[in-house]
Order: sequence, then structure tokens, then C-alpha cells
Amino acid sequence: MFKLDPLPYAKNALEPYISERTLEFHYGKHHQAYVTNLNNLTEGTPLETESLEDIIRSTYNLPEKQGIFNNAAQVWNHTFYWNSLTPTPKSPSEELNIAITNAFGSFEEFKDAFKKAALAQFGSGWAWLVTNKAGVLQILKTGNADTPLTSEFTPLLTCDVWEHAYYLDYQNQRALYIDACMLHLLNWDFAEINYKKALGN
Ligand code: MN
Repeated sequence: MFKLDPLPYAKNALEPYISERTLEFHYGKHHQAYVTNLNNLTEGTPLETESLEDIIRSTYNLPEKQGIFNNAAQVWNHTFYWNSLTPTPKSPSEELNIAITNAFGSFEEFKDAFKKAALAQFGSGWAWLVTNKAGVLQILKTGNADTPLTSEFTPLLTCDVWEHAYYLDYQNQRALYIDACMLHLLNWDFAEINYKKALGN
């Protein structure tokens, strides 16, 4: 039985950038629905005792398992997204700052590149800051439920660019929502934990 992980902060904690009303729907309805669907699809099958990560990797690209993949990946992506945001953001650590500068030229250039990817994702999907095993950072975008978990990259941070993430607060203005996340909410402490894990320390 899969469970909806608790939010790492109160539903109104991301205001004024992301409203309590958005979190009521995005976390309370959308994220919950992916958990419920996944339970309905896996109950009584060998998958019900597997980890979310194993299910995502073993059902990826299998047309007959698409429904299970979509819901499992969306459960995982959303938990990762809530942790990618924080009401009390700090700057990236020295180590991450160096990695960002090496990969993108500067923190400003990273922000531009991330925003561009998040804007350019056509339709529903996700923008990700990821690292390879050597610690080289890169920006990825994925469509629908797709996730870097099925790639050789380890995600550090994500931004959900499905319309349900921003429509109540920003309507069609995805760029304003991306700016709000980038400038006010990104959780660099979480990115640092993921970066260290990816590098094995
Ligand atoms: Mn979402």
C-alpha cells in the first residue's frame, strides 16, 4: 500500500508565491490521486510490495504498464517537487556553486537556462537540475510523468510545469510561476543532499 508522504511544510507556507489553494488541489487532490490510482493498479500484484523506484524503472517504456508507470512516477516526482521547494530558501553551498559555475558559466546563466527549459517544455512535464556520476550538472526537461530516475542522471531539484501547478495562481503565465520558484522557493539544501548522494559521499 503506497502512502501520500506528508508535505514538508504547511499548505500556506509557500505564499505568496504558491497559494494554499493551489497546494490544496495540487497536493491534496492531484498527488493523492496518483497514490490512489497506483494502489488500485498494483493491489494484489507482485508490484504492491516493491519500492516506488523499482516500479518506475521496471515499468518504463512498457506500453502495457504505462498506467502503472505514469502513476508511480507522478507519486515520486511530486514528493521530489515538494522537497525541491522551501519557504526558507538559502543560497547554494560552495560546492554546488562551483558545480553550477562550471556547468553554466554563472548562477545567473543557470537560472536563465533552467527557466528556458521549463518554459520550452511543451505541454505537461517537468524541468530538472540533474548531475551525472562525475558531478557534472545539466538541465533536463521531461514530458508528462517521465523522470530522470530512468536515466543515468540523478535529479537534484525539479519544477513541475503541469498547468495544475500554476493555473490557479498565474493562469497561463507559466514564466511568472517559474520565476517565483527560481527566485524565492528553490531548496538548495535538498539539492546539496542529492548531490552528495549522487557522488557517493
Ligand atoms: Mn503536479
